[in-house]
Amino acid sequence: MPASRLMPTEESSDLIGLTRDIVARELAPKVAGFEASGEFPREVFRTLGRAGLLSLPYPEELGGGGQSYEVYLQVLEEIASVSASVGVGVSVHALSCFGLFTAGTDEQREQWLPEMLSGEQLGAYCLSEAHAGSDPAAMRTKAVREGDSYVINGAKAWTTHGGQADFYKVMARTSDDGGRGISCFLVPADANGLSADNPEQKMGLMGSTTATMIFNDVRIPVGRRLGDEGQGLPIALAGLDSGRLGIAAVATGLAQGALDAAVAYAKERQAFGKAIIDHQGLGFVLADMAAAVESARATYLSAARRKDAGEPFSRQASIAKLVCTDNAMKVTTDAVQVLGGAGYTRDFPVERHMREAKVMQIFEGTNQIQRLVISRDLAR
Ligand SMILES: Cc1cc2nc3c(=O)[nH]c(=O)nc-3n(C[C@H](O)[C@H](O)[C@H](O)COP(=O)(O)OP(=O)(O)OC[C@H]3O[C@@H](n4cnc5c(N)ncnc54)[C@H](O)[C@@H]3O)c2cc1C
Repeated sequence: MPASRLMPTEESSDLIGLTRDIVARELAPKVAGFEASGEFPREVFRTLGRAGLLSLPYPEELGGGGQSYEVYLQVLEEIASVSASVGVGVSVHALSCFGLFTAGTDEQREQWLPEMLSGEQLGAYCLSEAHAGSDPAAMRTKAVREGDSYVINGAKAWTTHGGQADFYKVMARTSDDGGRGISCFLVPADANGLSADNPEQKMGLMGSTTATMIFNDVRIPVGRRLGDEGQGLPIALAGLDSGRLGIAAVATGLAQGALDAAVAYAKERQAFGKAIIDHQGLGFVLADMAAAVESARATYLSAARRKDAGEPFSRQASIAKLVCTDNAMKVTTDAVQVLGGAGYTRDFPVERHMREAKVMQIFEGTNQIQRLVISRDLAR
């Protein structure tokens, strides 16, 4: 963890302290176990939820924590420095609530948001399909209006918390008009016809279940559509701007965890009669790792402050996602190098950090797609 954080208020400093206590006590002892077994750590999310850490960036009057992104993201970073799987889960939950918060009517928000933010519920976000990842406008899952209902048929791939979540924010096609023919729905986990396929067998993030969600004549009331028909893709993409900041913070926490493990090892491990950190060639590797972590943090915080100030931040969110995840890949790879042969074994967490860093460059828009967002914004 960073030695100290410059938080904007005393209350937010206390929140960081509380988070560190909770993750040290409730999460750190369990991470190696659930990453090895692939068991979904549902109880950990309940603990975080009861402590108010699952709903920080939402207003207090709706059951949230009333925190700025500057604060929320640093809490998220602290969680991810101990477990990337749980960090990703907290970020995905926030993303799953976003559509209702921004596009829901007052009535819809009052009806569902307090429960979703209560800490007892966990959300999932269904945008991708097997043939439509980087290009979500190519999606085929359909929601057909029948009287006062929509009937959803199709399959949403790669759903984080698939089969574990209590509610699903689902983007589905309501007309054939490309990106303008997609609508957004809030689907409860117990809806008839909704099921999860077998979880994906992934390279990392074993504690974060990822599964295709199958929609077989799932009938939901029209009142569960968020926003107008055809507004689904803009709602999804607006959510991703904030979600990308979440992934940037998670990647930074992951890199910080790897740096901490590498520094601790390099102080202990001896070669040629001294600690390996005292060999300049290795000390400089660690220095570059520390520079990468701190510059990543500065990048996501700068984007978060723009968001908190109500400024446009889409380009900066993509820059933060790109910089923080690329830095995390480099830092975690170097951490394995610092530990030498030990780094390549499961006796130390750095091989896991390296596997976890890879997916950060892929989900919530690959880093090629982030470059597309940035370059299009520059061309505007
Ligand atoms: C562990 C995990 C969890 C996930 N969780 C979720 C979730 O909760 N909800 C959800 O909806 N999705 C989720 N995803 C899906 C994820 O967002 C997609 O995998 C991602 O957007 C990439 O889509 P794709 O896999 O179809 O790759 P593709 O779109 O097939 O891309 C393949 C390659 O082509 C490149 N490429 C594509 N288009 C361009 C272009 N225009 N210019 C340059 N390069 C391009 C990509 O960068 C990539 O390198 C998750 C994925 C993983 C692995």
